[in-house]
Amino acid sequence: MKTIDDFNFKDKKALIRVDFNVPLNEKFEVTDTNRIEAAKPTIIKVLEDGGCAVLMSHLGRPKGKSNPDLSLEHIAKTVSEVIGVNVKFVPECVGEIAEKAVEALQPGEVLLLENLRFHGEEEDGDKDFAERLSKLGDIYVNDAFGTAHRPHASTTIVAQFFPESKCFGYLLAKEIEAIDKVMQTGEKPVLAILGGAKVSSKITIIENILDKIDHLIIGGGMTYTFVKARGGQVGDSICEDDKKELAMDILKQAKEKGVEVHLPVDVVAADSFANDANTQIVDVDKIPDGWQGLDAGPKTLENFKAVILKAKTILWNGPVGVFEMESFAKGTIAVGNAIDEATKNGAFSLVGGGDSVAAVKQFGFEDKVSYVSTGGGAMLESLEGKTLPGIAAIID
Ligand code: AMP
Repeated sequence: MKTIDDFNFKDKKALIRVDFNVPLNEKFEVTDTNRIEAAKPTIIKVLEDGGCAVLMSHLGRPKGKSNPDLSLEHIAKTVSEVIGVNVKFVPECVGEIAEKAVEALQPGEVLLLENLRFHGEEEDGDKDFAERLSKLGDIYVNDAFGTAHRPHASTTIVAQFFPESKCFGYLLAKEIEAIDKVMQTGEKPVLAILGGAKVSSKITIIENILDKIDHLIIGGGMTYTFVKARGGQVGDSICEDDKKELAMDILKQAKEKGVEVHLPVDVVAADSFANDANTQIVDVDKIPDGWQGLDAGPKTLENFKAVILKAKTILWNGPVGVFEMESFAKGTIAVGNAIDEATKNGAFSLVGGGDSVAAVKQFGFEDKVSYVSTGGGAMLESLEGKTLPGIAAIID
């Protein structure tokens, strides 16, 4: 695996695919600089070597057409502030104007290209478009984990025009390392905590990770399909009746593979899906009609904590309750606290995929776990065991 540390960028132009798909407010100001900060170490390494950086990214979904609201020019100032270098902007990402701007770049300078997705060829993975992009650098660096699962021109196809000079940036390398630590080299016992709304959206992940883990905590809305499949009464809780057989099959597979499954034993049940609903703690398999389980109960959280504290490697994907509502966030916070404690005791903890990152950020666990993935969809696909095209293109 070639990383940016395998290259010296002195007098070279690095064509860096970053993920600057950042949120903007109505004044087109960047409201969250995380993604820009995440790319900073890679950009700084290139500049400190004595090279220059050509940054390419998408922003939003312009669907192949120019759209001034989604111009990357809006973010150039913020990128300058974050990396501490005045960033130049060019209102094109391929063609003569872009090539001239790149040609004029001096060592230590940074150029930001216009939104890649103003061209439909980007998302089509068009080879000619990728070749035009490839003219804008001597070394191709992919540092955009958030789009590594997309076979787009700038994330995947362009790499073939840099057979000897392509590599991962620091951020992408860190993501790959974190996934490997859980899926390949994790110290035992390895624990996966899977929550979220539905079994159907997590099934491929569960099937893939059963071979790699020792313990599986199932929480959140997924719980009730398992409980009902085992003959429990789930009241009005979210439940996928057509996935009950699948749930039983997962439990059987887990047993055969020696994976201990930990399901909730009690839940916070509510009489409506609302923050101010009436609530009661009930056994997970005795939820009365008219009530729905919206968070893990106290006995469950004690059990979960004990399992988490014994684990040496922890993967967390999906909240264990409806954390968006304060009344049902306690379970997710308790799981986060236990992971914090386990991490302090030396466990490796990775949080990633979908809503887990939102929950972790909302409750301030970001700095308490070992690694928070920057890519929702890309992380989910990695956990499903898929080889991401953007990663394969560099390794090939
Ligand atoms: P996912 O994107 O699959 O990880 O699902 C995250 C969503 O699951 C969050 O929006 C939670 O509110 C939701 N969720 C978690 N627990 C429950 C539950 N018991 N009932 C309904 N939704 C839930």
